[in-house]
Amino acid sequence: MDGRFAPSPTGELHVGNLRTALLAWLFARAAGSRFVVRVEDLDTVVSKPEHEAAQLRDLAALGLDWDGPVARQSARHELYDDAIAQLDALDLVYPCYCTRREIQVAASAPQGPLPEGAYPGTCRQLGAATRRQREREGRRPALRLRAGEPMVTVVDRQLGPFTAVVDDVVLRRNDGTPAYNLAVVVDDAAQGIIEVVRGDDLLSSSPRQAHLGQLLGFPSFAYAHVPLVLAPDGTRLAKRHGSVTLADRAAHGETARQVRSWLARSLGLAGPGESPTMAELVAGFGPERLPRDAWTLRESEVTGV
Ligand code: GLU
Repeated sequence: MDGRFAPSPTGELHVGNLRTALLAWLFARAAGSRFVVRVEDLDTVVSKPEHEAAQLRDLAALGLDWDGPVARQSARHELYDDAIAQLDALDLVYPCYCTRREIQVAASAPQGPLPEGAYPGTCRQLGAATRRQREREGRRPALRLRAGEPMVTVVDRQLGPFTAVVDDVVLRRNDGTPAYNLAVVVDDAAQGIIEVVRGDDLLSSSPRQAHLGQLLGFPSFAYAHVPLVLAPDGTRLAKRHGSVTLADRAAHGETARQVRSWLARSLGLAGPGESPTMAELVAGFGPERLPRDAWTLRESEVTGV
């Protein structure tokens, strides 16, 4: 079961990201599989090579290893172009001229089976004249999938079945960048990923990705969405919450090995005071024993470490 970790190089990894990476690695290695790292750097405004370098350094410091060279999405545009062309040949692509604001307003009204925030299909049936009019107004279109509002179920290894109606997801943003949902599924298939292990904030994206993969003729993926790490105030962990990166913790004299042991304990993979090696972690790994709930850090764990 080939696995992967796919960080966006937009900042340093914090213990929440590192815990997800450790789990993705353990799922793969405990199954005797390959593990790859893919840098999701399509957004050239927020992605920075120095963040990528720091992220890879931290993964290695934690004890994770990966197979083959690191893949960068910025070098893989051709694959995404081909996938969009393939969908277009099936008449499943249309230009969308909506602004973010227009989508927000339209998506907040009830839309039949679509979940809140889903794209309601405003531009799906635009005639040629209206499209020309929008172009004359200087609007650059995004490209969307004509999804047909299918109900799609993915079966998550940790969380069970999850069903959602798939909306007309963006395939290419209006600045020309391939969209996350398209790129991730194209890459997972191209890299031979069998099992997608990632934070459970992305569970809601998985029906879209599974649907796209099916339209593109890819084999289906197994999913394991793992619980996030929360800050003491109950919000999703972020850098501002305190000593949450390896560098922060090193500044207080804590080694990467100690951080790893802390993460392992939080996952029920080590007892108090234990500091298992990577081989011991692999040997003792059992996905069925992993906690199902988010891990909320205590104030004392992120301040004055
Ligand atoms: N690049 C995404 C992130 O850092 C993760 C994508 C994925 O695992 O599917 O949030």
